[in-house]
Amino acid sequence: MSASEAPVTAPCRSLRDWIDRLARSGRLAIAEPGRALRFELAGIANRLDGRQASLFPHPDGHPGSVVSGLTSDRGWMAEAMGVAPSALLARFQAAAASPLPWREVSPSEAPAQQVVHTSGIDLQALLPIPTHNEHDSGAYITAGLLIARNPRTGVQNVSIHRLQVSGPDRLGVLLLPRHAMAYLQMAEEAEADLEVAIAIGVDPLTLLASQAIAPLDQDELEIAGALHGAPLPVVRCRSNRVRVPAEAEIVIEGRVLREAREPEGPFGEFPQYYGERAPRHVIQVEAVTHRRNPLFHTIVGGGLEHLLLGGIPREATLLSHLQRSFPHVRDVHLSKGGVCRYHLHVQLDKRSEGEAKNVILGAFGGHYDIKQVVVVDTDVDIHDPREVEWAIATRFQADRDLVVIREAQGSKLDPSTRDGLGAKMGLDATVPLDAPPMRFTRIAVPGEREIELGAVLQRTDPARWTAQLGG
Ligand code: MN
Repeated sequence: MSASEAPVTAPCRSLRDWIDRLARSGRLAIAEPGRALRFELAGIANRLDGRQASLFPHPDGHPGSVVSGLTSDRGWMAEAMGVAPSALLARFQAAAASPLPWREVSPSEAPAQQVVHTSGIDLQALLPIPTHNEHDSGAYITAGLLIARNPRTGVQNVSIHRLQVSGPDRLGVLLLPRHAMAYLQMAEEAEADLEVAIAIGVDPLTLLASQAIAPLDQDELEIAGALHGAPLPVVRCRSNRVRVPAEAEIVIEGRVLREAREPEGPFGEFPQYYGERAPRHVIQVEAVTHRRNPLFHTIVGGGLEHLLLGGIPREATLLSHLQRSFPHVRDVHLSKGGVCRYHLHVQLDKRSEGEAKNVILGAFGGHYDIKQVVVVDTDVDIHDPREVEWAIATRFQADRDLVVIREAQGSKLDPSTRDGLGAKMGLDATVPLDAPPMRFTRIAVPGEREIELGAVLQRTDPARWTAQLGG
């Protein structure tokens, strides 16, 4: 089933319902039991990436099972939201603008706490944690929602971080200078550790909501509720005060240790290169709870699931950002070739000459990761790289339409930068407003799209084509 044919239904609120939906439509591949956690699992998932999700029952004979590739297609994400692909960003924008507070349930109502471990924790004995890429330092939890609690107000933050298994009850965590880090600094000022939980195996909309570029002190679980169209059920952790999705498959409870640092990395990241080994923060694990026969979700670094999960919430945020200043911006797209972070395509209903260049400058201000912007007219499909290249080939002149900004802040994970310092490039591939009417008119065959091929083509054996030529 292609994305455009996917039925528009209710939002998907459960991981197991989502896997059911994929399975019923030929989008779930099930591996033979006993696949290796080291490399083989990631290799199989990568080979199926974008076409089928993959389920690995009992890898290495482990009692648990692993799933991957749950959201590796844009159309699937729209389907999980219950909207057409063209409405994906608008739906996400609406949910981010109107979050829905969560609803707390008792432990007996929370499948995430069907089984509780509070002593003698050994993460790799409890959970099937894979190792993905050649030079990764070891096993990593990659699809864990890190839920941190503001130590002053109790407001929560949700974000995904790579989590290295550093010991039986110890995780190395890469915290970037965003919201979880801000909470940790508040805890450190009070000479306390930071209470956290890591939820693994959540529904696709909660996963997507965790990646919203929301303000500090906006609990992303409330955006998940808005995407669901119903408050998200949460349960209080057993060892701390963090509230976690009650429907999660697995929850790891613990504390980010104040002032502790241990080596973490290297690890294969979204640009298809390794993040370096360096001293990083440490999580001391206090408890692990899970469903009976839990599913461990893993996101393979650099795969489509990894790219799209970050890309779609960014697109929604960048579209809102641009439309505030430029109401004629229709749509934006972060291309897969640009690792869903660096290369932005903008569709503009241009009204003034020069407007595209202002849009380019606005986009660079939207997120420091943006490295290249191409602005096209409304007759160009920005989701089709061939269409965008066609617009550049036929509507762009480098001496007139190119914008280059030297020495700006970029992504530190882009190895062509000098520690994140690099150039920005903008291409105005829009048609001049004063162009003569026929010069940029796309050729078209009248009625081509409406032809029903089944009604006009013969079903006879084509090998006998010469028989058609007789009188
Ligand atoms: Mn946040």
